[in-house]
Amino acid sequence: MFSIEQLVKKDVLILSKEAKIADAIEGIRNSEDKTGVFLEDGRVVGIVTESDIIGAFLKGFSYSDKAYNAATKSVVYLNSNRSLEYVVDMLILKNLKRIPIVDADGKFVGLLTQDAVIEYLDGKNDKLKQKAIDMIVASKVICAHVNDSVKHCVLLMNDYRIGFLPILDGDRLVGQITDSAILSIIDRPGVLEMPVSFFINPEVVAVNESATVESISSLMRQKNLKEVIVLGQSGELLGVLSKRDLIKGAKNSYKHLLKKKLKSARDSLYAMPIPIVEVERSDGGYYIIWHNAAAKAVLDTELFDFRITDIIKSKELQKSLELIDSGADSDKIEIDIEDKSFVISISKTDDSVLQLVFSDITNIKKESEQIKRIIDILPEIILVTNGKRIVSANKCLLDFFGVESLEEFLQSQNCICESFLSQEGFLEFDGKSTWLETALQNTAESIESLAKMHDKKRGVERIFSVRAVKFDLDSGSVLVSLHDITEIYLQRELLENQRKELERLAATDSLTGIYNRNRLKEIAIYEFKKMKRDKYPLSLIMFDIDHFKKINDTFGHNVGDYTLKTIASLVGGLIRESDTFVRWGGEEFIILAPSTSLQNASILAEKLRASIEAYNFETVGRVTCSFGVAEASTNRLDFEELVERADKALYVAKKGGRNRVELFSN
Ligand code: GH3
Ligand code: MG
Ligand code: MG
Repeated sequence: MFSIEQLVKKDVLILSKEAKIADAIEGIRNSEDKTGVFLEDGRVVGIVTESDIIGAFLKGFSYSDKAYNAATKSVVYLNSNRSLEYVVDMLILKNLKRIPIVDADGKFVGLLTQDAVIEYLDGKNDKLKQKAIDMIVASKVICAHVNDSVKHCVLLMNDYRIGFLPILDGDRLVGQITDSAILSIIDRPGVLEMPVSFFINPEVVAVNESATVESISSLMRQKNLKEVIVLGQSGELLGVLSKRDLIKGAKNSYKHLLKKKLKSARDSLYAMPIPIVEVERSDGGYYIIWHNAAAKAVLDTELFDFRITDIIKSKELQKSLELIDSGADSDKIEIDIEDKSFVISISKTDDSVLQLVFSDITNIKKESEQIKRIIDILPEIILVTNGKRIVSANKCLLDFFGVESLEEFLQSQNCICESFLSQEGFLEFDGKSTWLETALQNTAESIESLAKMHDKKRGVERIFSVRAVKFDLDSGSVLVSLHDITEIYLQRELLENQRKELERLAATDSLTGIYNRNRLKEIAIYEFKKMKRDKYPLSLIMFDIDHFKKINDTFGHNVGDYTLKTIASLVGGLIRESDTFVRWGGEEFIILAPSTSLQNASILAEKLRASIEAYNFETVGRVTCSFGVAEASTNRLDFEELVERADKALYVAKKGGRNRVELFSN
């Protein structure tokens, strides 16, 4: 049994990934197949050839650079049990000069070269009588002129992926240059700018157009050539034949191969489940020249020699065909055929044939209609906007604005934001799409965005919770939902007010309306911090109504309450804004006085004492209070200690006869 392994050359140049370009050049010059292979764990990871190295120099590589960087990394390789037929197709269709062959585990076995294949086919094939002239497929011979620079030649060879150029002087063939020759000189300074004439090989090996594959391939082997020039009967340059051309010739005629390939492509197209129709312009219409089985099933008729527009009656289709016919690249139209929907992509396959490829979008359309129905019954406004204008919207939006269609809505405004009522804390229309950016960011960070709009139908303002997400990254469109939360919002506002009221109540004394003990404790924390930080003095005055029990007993509890209230409002009007005045309990009051020294606090206490004494209380007449004053700052006290000291001073004032001010002293 034949195996391609017989043709594989195992003794090849293996390069390390660390190898320098200089090493690679040296190795390649000495190797028979002009190729270096990079392996990693036995697997092929790159291949470097003469033309890769020439290309590397063009890109500015130098000798000391790593050769691996110049290598082709996406290497096509084949398993050693592939058929020869397959290998030959690969060599021809992928235009490869050598293919690495690997074993079942993917490990490198060796190289299969064009040479080896030709040699093998030479021995086997009986169709080697094909003439050189039949193998020349290119209509134009790629060649250079003696005055052209080396660089010009290199670029030309690079562009056409060839390793050989005939050189002409006028019409006369004067020599040739190969990539091997170029590689041997490319490192000389300034060589790229020099005329190629310095380096050409004048010994041209040429064959006559009627030479056979057999004779050409033996000539190539003898002279160790990769290419040979083909001349016409009168010596004119007809073309260049490479070993690859010979492989083609040896196996079969190139045209035959192409035909075979084309036919199998056609067969595949015919069997494809996607409807395809090809039309050609004739008599002012587009006539069907070919269609596949799927197209026949859709259009339900034998279609040849029909005008496509007689079968698919659509002005849009006619227009689109004319558009493509007049040079446009491609076009797409949507068409309904019976109960199915299609997108037809139209493009030009060659000069006169237009190809129509049908994509069945029936299900997609059905699904999108279902989604639309779902979105339409949702109770919130849902829309897609491109930032400036609404692209689509659900029924809830139409209902809210009292319009029949999006078109009608868009007649009066572009964007929903134009309806936003301006208010602090709500999204606002500012002519830019700031509101949308805010909504997008807030949605991402789970912060609620609010918008207010006027509901014309009900004549009320409504409040919406707005969420936005990026919808289509290509078009930059955004999906926005506006959920009416008016009732919830108002509830929330009510609760918030209630909470604030409760908080206020918890901090105030219900009888006098001034702060209570709880609030003083909170404020004290803050004032003590400030005192420590800013080094301000802080004093506390505690006072107590004298013989209050007697007032209650004599005039009744209501008069007692009145007295408490009157003293609270009297004192409240005499202290500073920054002072905190609280009912400490019963008929005891405290004033916490920041930025106030003990001395200034005692002056204040004295002023209060005198004012109360001077006041004429209804029913009761004269009421007096006793005062105790202490300072926190100089003694580094905490709040409790400060209160205690003021209390002690107050006690002394009571003991000392009441209606007096005492300062704390040890
Ligand atoms: P002193 O000069 O030693 O302070 O004598 P006092 O009678 O003022 O002190 P005492 O502590 O004996 O009495 C305080 C009284 O204050 C007893 C209590 O019934 C009364 N009282 C406390 N809270 C209230 C209140 O909210 N309303 C009224 N009307 N009386 C109150
Ligand atoms: Mg009292
Ligand atoms: Mg008391």
